[in-house]
Amino acid sequence: MPLKTVLDPLWAKGVVLEQGRRRLVLCAMDWCGLAGAAFRQLQQALASGAGAKPSNVILHTVHQHAAPYVDGDAYRLLRSLPDPPLMYSQRGLDELARRLAAAVRDAIARSEPVDAVGLAQVRVERVASSRRVWDRGKLVVRYSTGGKDPYQASLPEGHIDPWLRTITLASRGRPLIRLHFYATHPQTFCCDGRASADFVGEAREKLERDEGVFQIYFTGAAGNVTVGKYNDGSDAARRGLAERLLAAMKAAASQTRLEPLRNLDWRTLPVPLPRRMPEKEIEPTASGETRYRLACWHATARRKDPFDVTAVTLGPARILHLPGEPLLEFQEYALGLDPQRFIAVAGYGDIAPGYICPDRAFDEGGYEPSASWVGRGAEAVLKQAIRQALGI
Ligand SMILES: [Zn+2]
Repeated sequence: MPLKTVLDPLWAKGVVLEQGRRRLVLCAMDWCGLAGAAFRQLQQALASGAGAKPSNVILHTVHQHAAPYVDGDAYRLLRSLPDPPLMYSQRGLDELARRLAAAVRDAIARSEPVDAVGLAQVRVERVASSRRVWDRGKLVVRYSTGGKDPYQASLPEGHIDPWLRTITLASRGRPLIRLHFYATHPQTFCCDGRASADFVGEAREKLERDEGVFQIYFTGAAGNVTVGKYNDGSDAARRGLAERLLAAMKAAASQTRLEPLRNLDWRTLPVPLPRRMPEKEIEPTASGETRYRLACWHATARRKDPFDVTAVTLGPARILHLPGEPLLEFQEYALGLDPQRFIAVAGYGDIAPGYICPDRAFDEGGYEPSASWVGRGAEAVLKQAIRQALGI
């Protein structure tokens, strides 16, 4: 869908953490997804700005659907076929890479010492709801605008993680930056030519203006979580979601108690996930969207590079960053490994795997397994990588 209007700007927001001579870049971009060559290009740009290796860059897309989804390998494949569909502009991506590298260099030039960290966990009311709802033994798929249907709106929230987790970094008692983590598809509308950072961007920017502290938002393992119960696609629904998320963010900010930051460390593991073979060829007569979707699958099936799983230790807190669209079960698995610890999970690194499902989901059916380019067995591999990355 070509862009018609920019409702509000899409941001790439990040922080560079330095410990001794090592640097870690954390960047959350208001894009729907980044995969393959396009992901690597931007990750490399951020790394070069920091004078670090790409494995020291956590590149996350917040996953708003009113924003670009660029799988560089899929587009390369489509370009080799006759009459390719509408594509992103490589010139635009090059320019973005240049700006990201420059922003990192600029951030390093203005760096400040961080001496304290603060943690907060606040329940978010009436935002997330499951996309996989069971009603009398039947699986109901509730998409992001499920609230248009009174029956779907009446079903319970289902299986979610209602907690917003917020990490604050501070200097001499003054908060410098807040990192928020929450697991839901941040989508109230899509695919109509309007670009927007959606309700999560609205809440994040409002808090930044109100308290004058830089705010970054990460989407958790939200593969099977949407706002469908509470969203009918109207402006009023979107505003309500933004207000309720903002209320939780504000509460997190005011509940934060700072403590000295004693250690910072991180490790990245390369993880090879088992792929699924595509069931169909890319038909030249199919719609542009269908061809692109299939090209994403074919590109992932042919991919040789592994995926990154990164764990960061920030004093008492851990941050875990996963590739693809992991279902909530992977976030719960990580939290369950060390229930006493504050662990904040973000998904949506390189999105080439599509949905990463527990094996059981392939038997149950529903939407996510049908858009997963990694198959059965990904569960065991990813869980093992999570344990290893967290050192548990
Ligand atoms: Zn998604």
